Amino acid sequence: MTGAPPLLAVAGLKKHFPITRGVLRRRQVGAVRAVDGVDFTVAAGETLALVGESGCGKTTTGRMVLRLIEPTAGSVRFAGEELTGLDVEALRPHRREMQIIFQDPYGSLDPRMTVAEILAEPLRIHGVGDRADRRRRVAELLALVGLPQAHAQRYPHEFSGGQRQRLGIARALALRPKLIVCDEPVSALDVSIQAQIINLLEDLQRDFGLAYLFIAHDLGVVKHVADRVAVMYLGRIVEEAPKRRLYAAPRHPYTQALLAAVPVPDPLARKAPAVLSGEIPSPASPPPGCHFHTRCPHAIARCRAETPALRGIADGHRVACHLVAA
Ligand code: SF4
Repeated sequence: MTGAPPLLAVAGLKKHFPITRGVLRRRQVGAVRAVDGVDFTVAAGETLALVGESGCGKTTTGRMVLRLIEPTAGSVRFAGEELTGLDVEALRPHRREMQIIFQDPYGSLDPRMTVAEILAEPLRIHGVGDRADRRRRVAELLALVGLPQAHAQRYPHEFSGGQRQRLGIARALALRPKLIVCDEPVSALDVSIQAQIINLLEDLQRDFGLAYLFIAHDLGVVKHVADRVAVMYLGRIVEEAPKRRLYAAPRHPYTQALLAAVPVPDPLARKAPAVLSGEIPSPASPPPGCHFHTRCPHAIARCRAETPALRGIADGHRVACHLVAA
């Protein structure tokens, strides 16, 4: 940490999707609390991993950062400027600097467009360069992600899953962003291909000083790529720490359970904590108190009544658990 202001600062971010009833007169009868007040920062050139099970709110958080989903409340500051409340025109210059890589590389590429058209599209939309400039940039982007120039005239269906994710990365790089939201970028790929894509993302980060908000459902995937890790459960961050500290000494029972579930080459070497059991509760009716108490092996009466605050217990290490002392 340099003490410089963060590239991205998120505070009190919430997304509550209304639940409505009625045919003629729709009325709100509740809300799905997909994200329920999260705070985090990402520095230039850093990778923060947001990790948690499906439905924990991590993808919604990533999309709110990019204003692909409008927050219900909270603040998103990018390079010192507040993004919430900006209209489309005011947001446009920031959109160039913040990009996304999607989980499903095939679904995110228009099957009717050639690779050259797909990669030139963001440049065209933002009015960058003329046709010749854009052709040169397409060639550069293909080289950056390790694809031959001859592939420029092919269509997405002619590529393997790993190659399609390389195209997704090239498209995200087209406008020279500072931050990329990587939304489960390797979870749809074979294990051997996952390592290649993670290596590529690391090389690009080193070469261009990119910051990543890296969204994943398992701690095994982010072990190599993250600088810091924030663990989410039912719309809230329950633990955040520098990577080494989190993997060496996780303090929240949920983080401990997620780590215990990460496959290891020698099953006898796995540490003791209980593997997570039970379903994640619905974010439409989260349990009172600590949201994790219905699955926590250490829950006490206080956990059912009182929400634990996310408190700092060491430099850069925050935990939301009544039983964790500072
Ligand atoms: Fe478990 Fe209670 Fe800690 Fe929640 S606050 S993680 S229920 S011990």
